[in-house]
Amino acid sequence: MPEVLKSPARTGQARQDTTAVPDRVGEIIADVRARGDVAVREHSQRFDSWSPESFRLSAAEIERVVSGVDDQVLADIRFVQDQVRTFARHQRESMRDIEVETLPGVHLGHRHLPVAAAGAYVPGGRYPLTASAHMTIVTAKVAGVPRVVACTPPIRGEVPAATVAAMHLAGADEIHLLGGVQAMAAMAVGTESMDRVDLIAGPGNAYVAEAKRQLFGEVGIDLFAGPTEILIVADGSADPFVVAVDLLSQAEHGPDSPAVLVTTSAELGRSVLEHVERLLPDMPTRDFAAPAWRDHGEIVVVDSLAEAFSVADGYASEHVQILTENPRQALDRMTQYGALFLGEGTCVSYGDKVIGTNHVLPTRGAARYTGGLWVGKYLKTATYQEVTDPAASARLGEVCGRASRVELFEGHARSGDVRAAKYGDATVSW
Ligand code: NAD
Repeated sequence: MPEVLKSPARTGQARQDTTAVPDRVGEIIADVRARGDVAVREHSQRFDSWSPESFRLSAAEIERVVSGVDDQVLADIRFVQDQVRTFARHQRESMRDIEVETLPGVHLGHRHLPVAAAGAYVPGGRYPLTASAHMTIVTAKVAGVPRVVACTPPIRGEVPAATVAAMHLAGADEIHLLGGVQAMAAMAVGTESMDRVDLIAGPGNAYVAEAKRQLFGEVGIDLFAGPTEILIVADGSADPFVVAVDLLSQAEHGPDSPAVLVTTSAELGRSVLEHVERLLPDMPTRDFAAPAWRDHGEIVVVDSLAEAFSVADGYASEHVQILTENPRQALDRMTQYGALFLGEGTCVSYGDKVIGTNHVLPTRGAARYTGGLWVGKYLKTATYQEVTDPAASARLGEVCGRASRVELFEGHARSGDVRAAKYGDATVSW
């Protein structure tokens, strides 16, 4: 039986929607659909106190903003975008178009086709999440998406200069200073000033994530990537100070971000708890991290590593960090996570900011059915077929006629019948 050293004050709440969020999101989407740009402007004013003449930045404005960004910041943006691009290119190359001959003269294939237009959302309510620009836009461009529309909110009334620079350097075709549900709805349904896109991607708060969920179908989405989560699996060999620092690194995302430790060592668990409680009061981002830890922080002690991996899989957490003597074991033992961070040499912050894997990852248990954002999310795997041998078409036609009539599809059956007759010995009796 696991022993709980620290339980969340609001058990399960991080995983449940209150009805207020879906209702509010639904109202904003309906309003943007009905009133277009006028509604977008009103909601931007209401939630972000932001109503410029144009939400879209002109080429001259982009150049002016980028030229004001510190050289080191620009160099770091380029470095990180290179890492993201390199890994994304390898992933793209691993996706081969195929064509096979399944019967003599029967050719089946598939091709990976980029969507024509994608919307890249870069969060900016609490922090200017510059790195999300690399993750969404660089990846879309590696996939070959011709038109990438990028949206980010102003940050406390200011233009987020580094984020605009990152969007531009990543190759965005349009940059709009627009956030929240109004941005997601504008990209998905289109307005007078913005042509709609085919797929919207990127992380965001509970409102942004819910907007994607409600808009899905009318537009494609990458995945459900809401408030960040971290789960650390540690044994007695882990450094409790590092564990505490890494738990808080993700709790600071916002008050709805779970931070969970599953450990085989009660001694480590107690020490981590002490470090967290000592570090929290002086943390500059304690206003977000403290409620996150209070409401959604957990420390669970289990009897064995096998149990730790099984408990961790049960959470299907967005980020899972493995701080054990043999971290690679987790690759074979775990299946439910957005991204794994193996050993003390790396950490979730590397994944978030610098290392090159994509940081847009599934939350709220979505890791049970999907991985994170990658080039494949911007590509459609479309099939094709050709039959070059008349005898093969005749044979397929006979089977098609019989199989279709089992389903009472006479029209389908006749398409098979005509080929069976034209290319083979069959006769048409209808
Ligand atoms: P955000 O850009 O997602 O949201 C800001 C917008 O929310 C604002 O522009 C505003 O329009 C809207 N908003 C705020 N309050 C509202 C209300 N009451 N009603 C309707 N709309 C409202 O930025 P954020 O808030 O800082 O959140 C970023 C989130 O992204 C964090 O939760 C973080 O954990 C998450 N994140 C997730 C991943 C992932 O891959 N899962 C990666 C990075 C960040």
